[in-house]
Amino acid sequence: MTKILVVEDEQSLREPLVYVLEKEGYEVVDAADGDQAIKVFNAEQPDLILLDLMLPKKSGNEVCQIIRQSSNVPIIMLTAKDSEIDKVVGLEIGADDYVTKPYSTRELLARMKAILRRQTEPAVVAGSIIEAGPVSMDIDRHQVFVNGTKIAMPLKEFELLELLLERGT
Ligand code: CA
Repeated sequence: MTKILVVEDEQSLREPLVYVLEKEGYEVVDAADGDQAIKVFNAEQPDLILLDLMLPKKSGNEVCQIIRQSSNVPIIMLTAKDSEIDKVVGLEIGADDYVTKPYSTRELLARMKAILRRQTEPAVVAGSIIEAGPVSMDIDRHQVFVNGTKIAMPLKEFELLELLLERGT
């Protein structure tokens, strides 16, 4: 069963979200502040994290940075801020995607499913490799190699790199 960690300090948002996700068949664990988020993450090892940006104790960005030191778990930021700068900062620290509040549940679920599907796709052997100098991308498997070493890359950066390489070849 796919386990989702919901990090949201506002109970009036957290509880309905947990309810909807459970109804969708996910196993759900939750946290109400940044410190708790890291504790629950370490204890539960979720498959995906929905991470509110504005949190007590540690911000969503801080939580994201800490988790990224040890894990490539997919992270979708939930943010009330809709400025480009926040998005860029969030993606630089390793979030995979953004959903801006107020979000539609259907949109959130669709994005979660898209990310989870990429995580569990079986390996495709041929036809999906782009190479440019030291960089090699396996598009179907969402993997990037530099000089043969696999590197972690958030989804949006991956898509951007794919676009750049495709234009360059
Ligand atoms: Ca909040």
